[in-house]
Amino acid sequence: MVSSRTTSLPLLIIIVGGGIAGLASAFTLRKAGHQVLVLEQASGPAKGGGGMRSPPNMTRILMRWGLGRQLAAQAIKGSEISFRLTRTGEKVGAMVFHEEIMNAFGADWLLIQYDDLYSWVYSLAKSAGAMIRFSSHVVSVDPSRASIVLSTGETIRGDLIIGADGLSSVVRRSITGRAGPTLSTGRQLYVSNTSIPSELMKSDHSLHALLREPKLNMWMGDGFAIYGSPVSGYRNYCVTIAAPIRRNREGHSVRFDIDYATLEPRLQKLLGLVRIDTVTPQLSDRPLESLIHDSNKVILVGAAAHLIPDGQTQNVAMGIEDAAILGNLFSRLRSPDQLPSLVSAYEEIRLPRAAEVLASEIGKLDQVTFLDGSELQAIRDKGLRAALSQTVLAWDQADEEMLREQWEEHIHMFDYDADEVAEDWWIKWGNLMDVGRQNRQEESRLQGPFGGRMHICVSQVSDAPAPRRMGMRA
Ligand SMILES: Cc1cc2nc3c(=O)[nH]c(=O)nc-3n(C[C@H](O)[C@H](O)[C@H](O)COP(=O)(O)OP(=O)(O)OC[C@H]3O[C@@H](n4cnc5c(N)ncnc54)[C@H](O)[C@@H]3O)c2cc1C
Repeated sequence: MVSSRTTSLPLLIIIVGGGIAGLASAFTLRKAGHQVLVLEQASGPAKGGGGMRSPPNMTRILMRWGLGRQLAAQAIKGSEISFRLTRTGEKVGAMVFHEEIMNAFGADWLLIQYDDLYSWVYSLAKSAGAMIRFSSHVVSVDPSRASIVLSTGETIRGDLIIGADGLSSVVRRSITGRAGPTLSTGRQLYVSNTSIPSELMKSDHSLHALLREPKLNMWMGDGFAIYGSPVSGYRNYCVTIAAPIRRNREGHSVRFDIDYATLEPRLQKLLGLVRIDTVTPQLSDRPLESLIHDSNKVILVGAAAHLIPDGQTQNVAMGIEDAAILGNLFSRLRSPDQLPSLVSAYEEIRLPRAAEVLASEIGKLDQVTFLDGSELQAIRDKGLRAALSQTVLAWDQADEEMLREQWEEHIHMFDYDADEVAEDWWIKWGNLMDVGRQNRQEESRLQGPFGGRMHICVSQVSDAPAPRRMGMRA
């Protein structure tokens, strides 16, 4: 359940971008008692998209938001990730989601279709009372006034702006000062996500078999990767391609740089059924240095903040976590002088997580796209093959050392509980913030004939190190 605590100082919050992170933030901030206006450039609710994963750190939040019934009906509980070679289809490795460990997380690793999650989060935001305006393309942001300008010339002013406008964010520009997104310094991958209706696969025996397995198949190729999984109650099969793009002489992208003839037969058939509409570039492999503007009136969430390429394990989860944390923090707003500290708290909490997750996701993407014949590829395949025999054993029969090695990073990623992190922050710092506020109120009450000398510095009442930025911004 979302906390029933609401602010006593409702703000007008403008959210730029009505994708999943924007709508999720609209939901939690409405629940926290704020007025929310979502500005989305598309002409209506999103359609299409491919597959995504909901790791336990995301599923846990969706359950608390009351989406258990929808997840049970449409999401597919993933049993494993199978690592295969694109040339032969050979399964060289696996990551098995044993019941024992998944029970410990208290939430499942799910396969979900983008459309499904979008429609659930859209309904949550709408029924919580968020205003969602389509055909509203934001062209500029004035961070100091918390205002935005639409392509029609209309200016809208609020108290706070949330930039949820995706990888090519306009709002991010107002924070980084740079015109465009930073492109990765390494090999440039592009990603496409599509889904294939199950009817198109059923007539082919080998494709039908893929459709029925609750698994993510990850085919690793020569500098590219292709992932596939059933979604939406096995009604569709989603295919994600991460590969370099081949360009024509004019520099326009023409198609993925994949030699289709080298692919195993199932992949050739699968890709023959895929219609690629849009591709998104892999952006920087370095996290942003700041997620907020110095004015404390602009905050970035989702892909705009975290730069994780589409189709990865945590790209959607990060926007959901951001929303959970925003809702928690902003439900506590009681006076205007708390606002800078709460905005800084968001950044304080999210920056380290963002850096860890981006590094982990880029690392995993690198591993599945090593070039054929490279030393790294040989080491990867040897390691995967050596672990495979152990991985597929029952949890209590597998080698403990190997399991620990395989799971260590995932445990760190999956165990993150955004609600708990925000609560912990508040217990540690928020109460002190309240003490500071009460003292300031008392101070101003006493000012006048006696002069104001009652202020207690927050750092004097705590042994713990002060948060990096708390209260530092005017
Ligand atoms: C239609 C669609 C389908 C997707 N399908 C998949 C998928 O199948 N698998 C997957 O892993 N990821 C998919 N993604 C990406 C995934 O949603 C994100 O990586 C992640 O959920 C973070 O979401 P986000 O809301 O931050 O960004 P996004 O999902 O990119 O949403 C950003 C939103 O902001 C809007 N916007 C951008 N600029 C402006 C502007 N200037 N003014 C107003 N609005 C603006 C965009 O139209 C978009 O709706 C998809 C994204 C979209 C938009």
